[in-house]
Amino acid sequence: RLIAAESKSSQEEAIERALRPKRLAEYVGQAKIREQLAIFIEAAKRRKDVLDHVLLFGPPGLGKTTLAHIVAAEMGVGLRQTSGPVLERAGDLAAILTNLEPYDVLFIDEIHRLSPVVEEILYPAMEDFQIDIMIGEGPAARSVKLDLPPFTLVGATTRAGMLTNPLRDRFGIVSRLEFYTPEELTHIVTRSAQLLSVPAESEGALEIARRSRGTPRIANRLLRRVRDYAEVKASGRITREIADQALSMLDVDHGGLDLMDRKLIAAVIDKFGGGPVGVDNLAAAIGEARDTIEDVLEPYLIQQGFLQRTPRGRVATSAIYRHLGLEAPASSGQ
Ligand code: ATP
Repeated sequence: RLIAAESKSSQEEAIERALRPKRLAEYVGQAKIREQLAIFIEAAKRRKDVLDHVLLFGPPGLGKTTLAHIVAAEMGVGLRQTSGPVLERAGDLAAILTNLEPYDVLFIDEIHRLSPVVEEILYPAMEDFQIDIMIGEGPAARSVKLDLPPFTLVGATTRAGMLTNPLRDRFGIVSRLEFYTPEELTHIVTRSAQLLSVPAESEGALEIARRSRGTPRIANRLLRRVRDYAEVKASGRITREIADQALSMLDVDHGGLDLMDRKLIAAVIDKFGGGPVGVDNLAAAIGEARDTIEDVLEPYLIQQGFLQRTPRGRVATSAIYRHLGLEAPASSGQ
């Protein structure tokens, strides 16, 4: 069973890779970031200079990894990829940095999870393309400066506020990814359906888009599940009705909220009288990590106006009571 599960997930990964846009022009939405990057990339190329370091932040699945690959492709350089938690020792990062080709992109996912010793190495590397490494131990130890090839660091994180100030200050380009509109997601679903040779009507694509929590990764995942449903229960064609039936079966409601969203909201309403409730109490009540609530669950609920973050904690808004067909207490958020 383990093997089957593993091969499935690597198959899903392969599909994700196949659906990933390769160039800026194919990247849907995020108009502001696209426009800015296009200019900075063009300018760096004209000067034959290295592109400044880029920090991308925003909830998971909005396209940070995709954008890092696109930056490398548009600059015409290679990309090395790693992540904060993987780099345990200073030497791990030093090894990667010293192996870069000139102008390469180094993509560090979850950059807020770098250990302090590794982060220390990064400062002079980003600023002067140099690292200080210690050779030897004890009284004979000495520090040696090594020159690095010029490179572009692309860092990704769910929240910019989780980075230390010295690290954040060393990025010349800081971009926040926004949730996608249903129109943008319809575009993405339609494109993915074509790439996967799935017949999808525009109304069907829109239904999936509207219920994907503003997130391309979720849209692509739901498209694949709706395709399964359409093949088994109908002719294989994704219509609005088929999408609706499949998504209901997957417990995705008409506003696009899934089981986890509803569990969180139910806790705020039923266990804490609609709030305000602190995030730690909420985490304990639903048995999820605080980070999952802050990074994955609540950004979309807040953006949709279903949940409010106040100094005293999270509050259910009258909009979420309406969404759930419940009567809102007079004290509910707006
Ligand atoms: P994480 O930080 O969790 O890794 P991410 O923000 O890096 O997430 P990606 O892996 O880049 O997200 O994107 C997830 C999937 O969504 C990709 O497979 C890609 O196909 C699709 N996708 C993301 N952004 C776009 C976009 N702007 N246009 C089209 N497809 C997109």
